[in-house]
Amino acid sequence: MSDLLNGAGGLVVGQVPVSAGERRDLELPVARLPSGTRMTMPVTALRGIEDGPGLWLTAAIHGDEIGGTEVIRRVLARLDPRALRGHILAAPIVNVHGFAEGSRYLPDRRDLNRSFPGSARGSLAARLAHLVIENIVAPCSYGIDLHTGSDDRSNLPQIRADLDDPETLELATAFGAAAMIHARLRDGSLREAACRRGSTVLLYEGGEALRFDEATIDVAVEGIMRTLSYLDMIDHIAALDSGGNGTDTPLIARTTSWVRAPVSGLLRSRGELGERVVKGAVLGTVGDALGADERPVRSRSNGMVIGRAENPVVHRGDALFNIAVVEPQAGASLET
Ligand SMILES: [Zn+2]
Repeated sequence: MSDLLNGAGGLVVGQVPVSAGERRDLELPVARLPSGTRMTMPVTALRGIEDGPGLWLTAAIHGDEIGGTEVIRRVLARLDPRALRGHILAAPIVNVHGFAEGSRYLPDRRDLNRSFPGSARGSLAARLAHLVIENIVAPCSYGIDLHTGSDDRSNLPQIRADLDDPETLELATAFGAAAMIHARLRDGSLREAACRRGSTVLLYEGGEALRFDEATIDVAVEGIMRTLSYLDMIDHIAALDSGGNGTDTPLIARTTSWVRAPVSGLLRSRGELGERVVKGAVLGTVGDALGADERPVRSRSNGMVIGRAENPVVHRGDALFNIAVVEPQAGASLET
């Protein structure tokens, strides 16, 4: 399971060699701002003394999705490179421009996660994507990309991955989030580009943009530690067996469905993240400011609430609740 490292048996990240048993905090040069300020992408490399797999961790590809940045800090604080097998390359702030602006996008409004694999001579987004592929993804066989909800939405901690691939399904199961959602590869995403290079990739979603949500961060930290243990990159930690998600049986869904606002007005939400719902269940109401003309918002399928709008001011057609669709087995009850 050992990854092929650059050069003659060494790990080199952005021209910086990383020795066995060493942690290196380094900066990959991105580009100058128009003001002349030099922009760099922070990367931490951990290389074990013993051989093993390579795993990358990325966060804030969408610059306002900062929860994963804190996840990476906490994971790295728990790891000793001398006790690691293989190597970890962690980029806690990939979209350095969007991060500084509190924006999902790059200054040219491009979505970095639609710009992979990128190119050395393309747009700013294409160059950033290329930098990540060449320096972070290429030396590794496994990866976890950390995201949060966007646009005033919060997400239940969940893994999105190609669950049709047996190795990916095993890795997702080892991570142990409460919900696993089968997600086809999205054109131009980091996950797609890395999978096409042969990597096994998980995408973690949870919490809100521009927030540190403790419970969501905790699930991700514990999930990454369990994944490292599964890959035999760290010694088995008995305390992790209890799991960080408070659930024994994860929900596995192949499709998701948005419930939209039936009218414009104010959303009075009842549907909680993680709640199991049946088709027709009332997730909230939308009415006017004084509560007249309340219209129910109903689930269109059986399943679990995995995302919801947090801004009560809604237009007709706005996406309010994301339901992981799970059709009940014959004779089985959805209620647990
Ligand atoms: Zn995102």
